[in-house]
Amino acid sequence: MTITKKILQMIKQYDRIIVHRHMRPDPDALGSQCGLAEILRTNFPDKEVYQVGGPVEGLAFLAEMDEITDQLYEGSLVIVTDTANAPRISDERYALGDKLIKIDHHPNDDPYGDLLWVNTQASSCSEIIADFAFAEKLAITENAARLLYAGIVGDTGRFLYPATTSHTLLVAAKLLDYGFDATKLNREIDQISLDVAKLSGYLYQNLQIDNNGAGYVFLDQGILKKYGIKDSDTASLVPLPGTIDVVLAWAVFVEQPEGYYRVRLRSKGPVINNLAKRYHGGGHPLASGANAKDQAMCQEIYHEIQILCENYRKK
Ligand code: AMP
Repeated sequence: MTITKKILQMIKQYDRIIVHRHMRPDPDALGSQCGLAEILRTNFPDKEVYQVGGPVEGLAFLAEMDEITDQLYEGSLVIVTDTANAPRISDERYALGDKLIKIDHHPNDDPYGDLLWVNTQASSCSEIIADFAFAEKLAITENAARLLYAGIVGDTGRFLYPATTSHTLLVAAKLLDYGFDATKLNREIDQISLDVAKLSGYLYQNLQIDNNGAGYVFLDQGILKKYGIKDSDTASLVPLPGTIDVVLAWAVFVEQPEGYYRVRLRSKGPVINNLAKRYHGGGHPLASGANAKDQAMCQEIYHEIQILCENYRKK
């Protein structure tokens, strides 16, 4: 039996399905989670379907979360999308369900769940959810198509990153036919506040780059406060160093109110997720995240990026 059939079979066995995603959601987390939830509601109107996981920060134009009691988990099927590691699942109540399905496109470092569908070839988890709906001939509403398209656009940097395949474009093209306003959606995903625009000037001015294209910048609490920016607003700043021709791989170190640093790593070539894993993180080969307890640890991470870039240039 194909994995899509196995998943559908499990879905059919439950009257209540609760869909989770990862903390600090991005468009793919919300797109895959809420796109799937909407597809399930449309195709199985007799089932109760919930999407949960706390605040969606600046992404409320995509979807809002349901608030549910612990009791609802009893006898439920829980599906988690776009989340590689169980500790990163938003809302730890995911474990209270009867059965658990993992659907993801990150390396399967933490194979949690009773049934897993992990496709690291997919550009995004939203692409996998679209594959699921197409394979099982499930009805897709205009809004579900919009959500899945948002996830694909978000995780591919609007079809820029190498995870974009001909299949990704095919899926995106099919989704576009459901009639949602893609121009409006792209603008919503792309637009930044004036404060973030000003901070991007700071980022470009203060980015340090070595001779091999290893770059880094610190966004400490003082700078974030000065520009009126929260951690969740930094997402649109992270890709910016990559637009510079000489930059090959980079880190954006974002100081958290508690004092530790959220490390956001990106690369145009050298594989960086093994480095991320060594610093309480993980992710994709060219887009990862980690944590550092202080500036010294950030410098240590940057030094490792420098070595990766140096070795990559020698190849
Ligand atoms: P971010 O910089 O938060 O956008 O993360 C980039 C990629 O790295 C995403 O695919 C995340 O799932 C992954 N990632 C970020 N932080 C972590 C972490 N602490 N542990 C595991 N994976 C992470």
